[in-house]
Amino acid sequence: MDWSPIAKPRGALRREPCLMDYEQARRDFTWGQANNWLSGLRGGALNMAFEAVDRYAAGASGERLAIRFLARGAPSADLSFRDLADASHRFANVLSRLGVQRGERVATLMGRVPALYATVLGTLAEGAVYCPLFSAFGPEPVRARLSLGSVRVLVTTDLLYRRKVAPIRDQLPQLEHVLVVRTPGAGDLPAGTADFEVAMNTASTEFAAVHTAPDDYALLHFTSGTTGQPKGVLHVHAAVSAHVATARWVLDLQAGDVYWCTADPGWVTGISYGVIAPLACGVGMIVDREEFDAPRWYEILDTERVTVWYTAPTAIRMLMKAGVELARTRTYPALRHLASVGEPLNPEAVVWGVAALGLPFHDTWWQTETGAIMIANYACMPIRPGSMGRPVPGIEAGIVRPREDDGVDVVEAAGEVGELALRPGWPSMFRGYLNEEARYRKCFRGGWYLSGDLAQRDADGYYWFVGRTDDVIKAAGHLISPFEVESALMTHPAVSQAGVIGIPDPIAGSVVKAFVELKSGYEAGEALQRELLAHARRLLGVAVAPREIAFAAQLPRTRSGKIMRRLLRARELGLPEGDLSTLEGDS
Ligand code: ATP
Ligand code: MG
Repeated sequence: MDWSPIAKPRGALRREPCLMDYEQARRDFTWGQANNWLSGLRGGALNMAFEAVDRYAAGASGERLAIRFLARGAPSADLSFRDLADASHRFANVLSRLGVQRGERVATLMGRVPALYATVLGTLAEGAVYCPLFSAFGPEPVRARLSLGSVRVLVTTDLLYRRKVAPIRDQLPQLEHVLVVRTPGAGDLPAGTADFEVAMNTASTEFAAVHTAPDDYALLHFTSGTTGQPKGVLHVHAAVSAHVATARWVLDLQAGDVYWCTADPGWVTGISYGVIAPLACGVGMIVDREEFDAPRWYEILDTERVTVWYTAPTAIRMLMKAGVELARTRTYPALRHLASVGEPLNPEAVVWGVAALGLPFHDTWWQTETGAIMIANYACMPIRPGSMGRPVPGIEAGIVRPREDDGVDVVEAAGEVGELALRPGWPSMFRGYLNEEARYRKCFRGGWYLSGDLAQRDADGYYWFVGRTDDVIKAAGHLISPFEVESALMTHPAVSQAGVIGIPDPIAGSVVKAFVELKSGYEAGEALQRELLAHARRLLGVAVAPREIAFAAQLPRTRSGKIMRRLLRARELGLPEGDLSTLEGDS
């Protein structure tokens, strides 16, 4: 595999990036300086919603575009910073009227509709804690999260309420208020709910953001559940300084940008980088209310003149499957920066960006727990395809190995695999797993936060993802990275996605088995199977290449788009399938 750095195509850096000198920023930056990008409130208070909208709502910047909503068959709808502030103030007043206290929880179960954005920001302004739920969850995952989160107010739509909440409402005694956004022609207001629009229209647009302390809870996010039961992760208002810093340095957001984050606001990326970070930088964004659709996405990038695009490997692989020719039916003269998060970004996909869109994808690594991007490839640095990049200024990362006692050994040598760890202290670090204090404490050892991901660092300080601690394969004494095997398979023209697991073997301990999804136009069969095995052996060597390859019409994925290797393994071995609440297509 070619791991050599790729230089940015000429003309791609049409603006000077926010981060010009990575080494200098790494040396000099302290988190205290990030406060210079925030307004803050009297007496050292800090409120995420104030930073994201209120401070831009007054004066000329109030007229600036905050969000443009796109929907099929409807004209686009624009909200300015002023409009968004008004809507969020109305919602904050609605909560106050309901008697919602600081720290109490408010959830949404909705798609990417304007009411969601008013709810997020209004909740934060009022000092309550906001918890997003993905709109495609079925009744049981909704019940589990609302109950675990002791959610007092839920905002949803009448249609979703009838299907997903009404059947379990009697099991949620702490859920006092449900506000529904009504669908024209969908009948009466469901019993036990109030009309969102009526509540909003009777509320004032005047509201002064509550003077929350930087360490007050702001967000409750549930993880993707890729490795097991989803966990409730708590974040504080101070996280906004990490959102702003990383949006500038990593996403390179600047005044005048048109930004598009494709992540759904049901997940941490969709809130941190699909609501808070761009707004807090005063940047306008696109929200597309439709699901993935390759031609539509290219059309949006082109006609909306998107400048910065943040998406995910699963989406990029789907675009790759649709073919580079489709991308080339349009041009993207405004596009300046592409980034990706959520899963390892295969080197193939980085390079494909150049062929399709004229720019490479910049991989970024973070987790629900870290609250913001921690490791990234930057506009000012050459990309090493397949690498997650280097730590964000202000973040100390390391490769460690847990010891028998409670400590860790720090791995200094380049190329050695160990657990990716971070020095605690950055502002968006999670402050707890909901109701799981012991589990939270277990994440910290020897002065480090242990991420649960395995990685290695090269001699130049770039980090390379190896796998999740639960997913890596130990075969005949070698540690095999499922990501490396998947990436090798994806270099074959027939393969669109691959999921690799270890299966027990009496001699080797484990052997590698790969499941592959094919691109259209390729036939599953023995000939192709042999060809893929040979291809993998050629690239990886016999010790690492899969022993077996199976074809899958569709790999099991989480709703946030990650391959669920634990499910591939459970199905292969006939083991219990575990928590499936976040499995795609299973509501
Ligand atoms: P759970 O913790 O419930 O199993 P999850 O870890 O998938 O779910 P998230 O917090 O949404 O939940 O995802 C973070 C994880 O996603 C990281 O720990 C890592 O395993 C993976 N990930 C995110 N970005 C990248 C990346 N750029 N490269 C490799 N892996 C990534
Ligand atoms: Mg995780």
